[in-house]
Amino acid sequence: MEAKVSQRIQNMATSSTFVMAAKAAEMKAAGVDVISLSLGEPDFNTPDHIKAAAVQAINDNFSKYGPVPGFPELRKAIAGKLKKENGLDYAPEQIIVSTGGKQALCNTIMAIVDNADEVILPTPCWVSYTEMVKLAGGVPVFVPCGIENSFKMTAQQLRAAITPKTRALLLCSPSNPSGSVYSAEELQALADVLKDYPQIMVISDEIYEHINYVGRHNSIAQCEGMKERTVIVNGVSKAYAMTGWRIGWIAAEPWVAKACNKLQGQYTSCTCTIAMKAAQAAYDGPQDCIETMRAAFQRRRDLVVSLAREIPGFEVNVPDGAFYLFPKIDSLFGRKYTDAEGCEHVIGNSDDLAMYLLQYAHVAAVAGAAFFSPECIRFSYATSEDKLVEAFRRVKEAVENLK
Ligand code: PMP
Ligand code: GLU
Repeated sequence: MEAKVSQRIQNMATSSTFVMAAKAAEMKAAGVDVISLSLGEPDFNTPDHIKAAAVQAINDNFSKYGPVPGFPELRKAIAGKLKKENGLDYAPEQIIVSTGGKQALCNTIMAIVDNADEVILPTPCWVSYTEMVKLAGGVPVFVPCGIENSFKMTAQQLRAAITPKTRALLLCSPSNPSGSVYSAEELQALADVLKDYPQIMVISDEIYEHINYVGRHNSIAQCEGMKERTVIVNGVSKAYAMTGWRIGWIAAEPWVAKACNKLQGQYTSCTCTIAMKAAQAAYDGPQDCIETMRAAFQRRRDLVVSLAREIPGFEVNVPDGAFYLFPKIDSLFGRKYTDAEGCEHVIGNSDDLAMYLLQYAHVAAVAGAAFFSPECIRFSYATSEDKLVEAFRRVKEAVENLK
């Protein structure tokens, strides 16, 4: 039988974050001392009170299907969080709980994007946005945002990218991969442009909300007239160190929530009931774990910024949130190295640099090309300070060895 994969999947890129993480894991399994700064996930364990709630849920036999959009108490807890932390009023019916922020995003895109609709993506942006938009038949429209404006999109850039086919703007703040955080004023300037285009929705990916070094998280949904046009995507993965539990959610207008619920009902049903009980404990329980982890990430941010600034050819922007460093490294393009067989190689692009660092520094990073900013490279600093010091020492040495 012909092994014929659908065009839809053929047209899809493989997730580069997971590709690099798998390569690093393979080398580690073969005995190489690789430091992986590729996959972005907190290195902390899930707090004990959250784990205890999951054990309790198992013992209480939460082993059957739950409601497709999530347990009512969890949706209520999330609505409570939005009111308390963000000053936003949502009814529990406007919250849909899904299998990670990833499914929450994908549901949303499938629910609002039609064939040939354009979705504006300020780049650099996270690897999966484009593929989700393409899956829905939509067209990603890139707006390149450079290091000179901390990788953020200006109101003028947004206006210039809008066409009659624009259906949505996908914003991520704090951003993966740049770590940039939009201020309230910057969000207001974008909202002011959108006032002229009522057909455009905003998908606001706020999964890194709590990993913020400027003291305050702002959502575009807080700008006047924007809440009704915005879908907030968030979850427990990053804030509570729960990436493997797979709980994310949206907060949106009832028509969007209903559409996501319909899709989810056919596609995956409810997400894991045990994980939902754990997530509820995360929202209802003590919140000091968030600050403990955030403070640790901020110390590491300060450390990696100072270490990376010592590397010749690295232009470093100070990230205001998330746990990624995204230096501009294109001044290294054209530099050379010689392999063990005496063959000369040129660093032609960010993929070449990522592969060189993996092979010669045993440090895994993700090429900026994966995030549509090929002049950069991404290092996740969600790992111990000891490992970060050693990783950046190796990267510096490898870069200095380039001819
Ligand atoms: N958005 C961004 C920007 C992310 O980095 C991630 C993490 N992979 C997600 C969404 C999805 O998070 P989750 O692990 O909850 O699916
Ligand atoms: N958010 C993480 C990253 O960008 C996890 C991997 C993924 O979901 O792509 O590395």
